[in-house]
Amino acid sequence: MSSSAESLSQLPLREDLRGLSPYGAPQLEVPILLNVNENTHGVPADVHAAIVEAVEKATQGLNRYPDREFTELRQNLASYLGHGLTPEQLWAGNGSNEVLQQVLQAFGGPGRTALGFPPTYSMYPLLASGTGTRYITAEREHGYAMTPEATARAVRDSAANVVFLCSPNNPTGTALGLDVIEAAYAAGEAANAIIIVDEAYGEFAHQGTASALSLLSGRARLLVSRTMSKAFALAGARIGYLAAAPEVTDALRLVRLPYHLSALTQATANAALTHAHTLLSNVEAIKVQRDRIVTELELLGLTPSPSDSNFVFFSGLEDPHRIWEGLLEAGVLIRDVGIPGSLRVTAGTEQETTAFLTALARLLSADGEQPPARAVD
Ligand SMILES: *Cc1c(COP(=O)(O)O)cnc(C)c1O
Repeated sequence: MSSSAESLSQLPLREDLRGLSPYGAPQLEVPILLNVNENTHGVPADVHAAIVEAVEKATQGLNRYPDREFTELRQNLASYLGHGLTPEQLWAGNGSNEVLQQVLQAFGGPGRTALGFPPTYSMYPLLASGTGTRYITAEREHGYAMTPEATARAVRDSAANVVFLCSPNNPTGTALGLDVIEAAYAAGEAANAIIIVDEAYGEFAHQGTASALSLLSGRARLLVSRTMSKAFALAGARIGYLAAAPEVTDALRLVRLPYHLSALTQATANAALTHAHTLLSNVEAIKVQRDRIVTELELLGLTPSPSDSNFVFFSGLEDPHRIWEGLLEAGVLIRDVGIPGSLRVTAGTEQETTAFLTALARLLSADGEQPPARAVD
């Protein structure tokens, strides 16, 4: 036991937090970072200039607390999302992680349960433990799919107070059909369950994939969360948001810290949203690389999951940890999500993607375990 663990055990830490590990995706100095699904394209120059100008202006008023209601941001988010949403239906936080935490603070907590469908976003159990919410899980079907019937059964049988549906799912990448979300919502009626659809990767979905935003009307227990960390290339700015019935945002107002969105954050988000079109132009380029990874991995004899996100989950590896280490030696950091035989890689720029595919092909053929690798250009 390290000395820091010894001293931690002497502190009066909450019993339910003892022995837990914090969120820990490695932050390493590696040339090619494809491990936490960031947008590797960076912020376009004109958007950068607009953000700097907006932040500069906001800096002049930093002696005052910011607009607690982030009024302009809620208006901008409502117009960005469309679907007839009004500003009263929008809520934002310092990353969608904070928004999800506020949801659990308001609707979870001691004596309440949250349901997740692993493999899914690793933050759900951590947000649950931080808020004293019991986290329970239900199985997925073959190939990590979710059907309306099995999902409804899990929601009903668990009588959970909060249900996390991640679509497109992290780490497997696939979006849920609206029928699954509708079934979960209907099944949650008996327990008056909050159904939260985490659409962090919504902008990367294949054309024709419907968003759960289209289901919000008339469903007061349905919440759809989004983020500016992925498609908008603003992970460092920490801006996430959700859309729901106005009474949901009233509930979140009870648990948020006053002035939780700094004036600088609001200025950044507003500037970015007025340039949404430019920011999103890289999304199409990333989708091309994402689809390319799926195709090339199949040619390498691996099994990638269908991806509606900016990353690809793939199985069929004899020794994923060895491959992960070999890629790291080649200067490419990807993610070992702890699922046997599998790894996850973020779609980067064309050059980054090429570097990943080339290094992977070399490692697999050196292994001799996999079918001979076709040369990747
Ligand atoms: C990246 C990610 C988020 C976004 O988190 P932020 O706090 O907005 O950066 C949310 N949900 C999932 C599933 C993610 O992968």
